[in-house]
Amino acid sequence: MGTAVVLGGSIAGLLAARVLCEHAQTVVVVERDDVETGAARRSGVPQSGQIHNLLAAGRVQLERWFPGFMAEAEAAGGVLSDLSRTARYQNDTRLVALRGQRQLTASRELLEALIRRRALAAGQVRIVLARARGLEFAGSAVCGVRVEDAEGRSETIAADLVVDAMGRHSQTAGWLAAEGWCPPRVERVYSGVNYVTGVFSRASGVPDLGLALIRYSQGAGPEDLYAAAASAIEDNRWMVLLAGLEDHWPGRTEDEFRRLCALLPAPFPEAVQGEMEAPIATYRMRDNQRRRYDELAHLPARLVAVGDAVASFNPTWGQGISSAALHASTLSYWLCDQPDLGRMPVEFFALQRVVVDAAWEMSAGADLERTAPSGPGTVWARMRRWLRSQIMLAAIDDPGVARRVGAVTAMMAHPDTLNEPSLALRAVLVNHRPGAGRPDASARVPRR
Ligand SMILES: Cc1cc2nc3c(=O)[nH]c(=O)nc-3n(C[C@H](O)[C@H](O)[C@H](O)COP(=O)(O)OP(=O)(O)OC[C@H]3O[C@@H](n4cnc5c(N)ncnc54)[C@H](O)[C@@H]3O)c2cc1C
Repeated sequence: MGTAVVLGGSIAGLLAARVLCEHAQTVVVVERDDVETGAARRSGVPQSGQIHNLLAAGRVQLERWFPGFMAEAEAAGGVLSDLSRTARYQNDTRLVALRGQRQLTASRELLEALIRRRALAAGQVRIVLARARGLEFAGSAVCGVRVEDAEGRSETIAADLVVDAMGRHSQTAGWLAAEGWCPPRVERVYSGVNYVTGVFSRASGVPDLGLALIRYSQGAGPEDLYAAAASAIEDNRWMVLLAGLEDHWPGRTEDEFRRLCALLPAPFPEAVQGEMEAPIATYRMRDNQRRRYDELAHLPARLVAVGDAVASFNPTWGQGISSAALHASTLSYWLCDQPDLGRMPVEFFALQRVVVDAAWEMSAGADLERTAPSGPGTVWARMRRWLRSQIMLAAIDDPGVARRVGAVTAMMAHPDTLNEPSLALRAVLVNHRPGAGRPDASARVPRR
């Protein structure tokens, strides 16, 4: 390709740009925010001040596209710690520790800045500070992008391929509809999660626990918490999340935030000891959202979409960055196959669907179970649900089952791998061994 244009210069867009370097002479990233000034918070990414957990799949993909990324992140202040320094809780129960590679904890801002630096280092990538306003077509293919800068000057950038990475609120579907194309169906699963994040100073060094994640069934944690997370990040800070459901916003004042954290297990009480370094940041995620490009029978050639523009999830599952990275790898896989770019990119969206389906099943699937539990259903459906609950229960303290479940939640394995009969059998045996007597993690009585 001569020129590939990526709309949106956040994590998904920058990773796509990195991949496109291997297929295009020039890669233009159109970004509405002035990202190169290094301003910490920017309006195009309103979630940037919230805690972001990097799953193993994201870490592996980042290292794939940017060798040495983890070492660089550590040098920039990110905290690399052994997985034994990560604590995961289901309700009041601490889950068995996972073994494996190290965990990186850092702010989303740092991750994005490092990804941008590496993507731009390739030399072929340039960022155009402008807002994308629409697509240009030649017959049934996209051939360019209309952009407008902050002074209102418009221009058209010709493109051999356009990648939409404009995030959850991408306008592309509307532009397609305006040109007479059928826009992708939007699928939504209600989530109703409220994020409240505080940042606190921390004593230097790697703390005993660098990351803690808690999930409470049905939002029934202390004082109706739904989830909580504490992450040791760069510049000797803790980033701490308290999440509630519906109209519950836990810890919206500093005193309230500290008081709630004191009710939680380590490292939460310790994490809020220091000075609060930034105003409390809030964010509401109403629903999981997915644009079904994969279903379209007619879509223009030379246009694909990646990242949140395609699917964004209940953030407590931490899937967004890893999904964006896997979409970039999907783009690479598709382009390496030398597709005819003059034809509809159905193969790309079919490949991407595998990744999106897997993430969607975990996060949107869990929200569906929580908000609209399925009825009894067929015998097979009931059996499948029972076996899944057995696997989740066994994963609390059986290292073998925990490893398999952990691989799925870290997006290193497909959820279908949990359907293997041998795993279900092991889980049932673990749960029913004499003296097991463990509480059912999905049905704990809440502490209030
Ligand atoms: C509260 C919250 C918590 C989260 N926590 C996690 C987590 O723990 N772990 C995780 O992996 N993920 C998490 N995510 C998801 C993660 O933030 C995103 O998946 C990630 O940022 C990648 O998104 P993206 O690049 O596709 O889109 P975004 O990051 O939303 O970026 C879209 C970009 O497009 C630009 N843009 C938009 N419109 C235009 C236009 N017209 N012209 C030019 N530029 C435009 C924007 O300025 C922005 O730079 C969380 C999300 C939320 C909301």
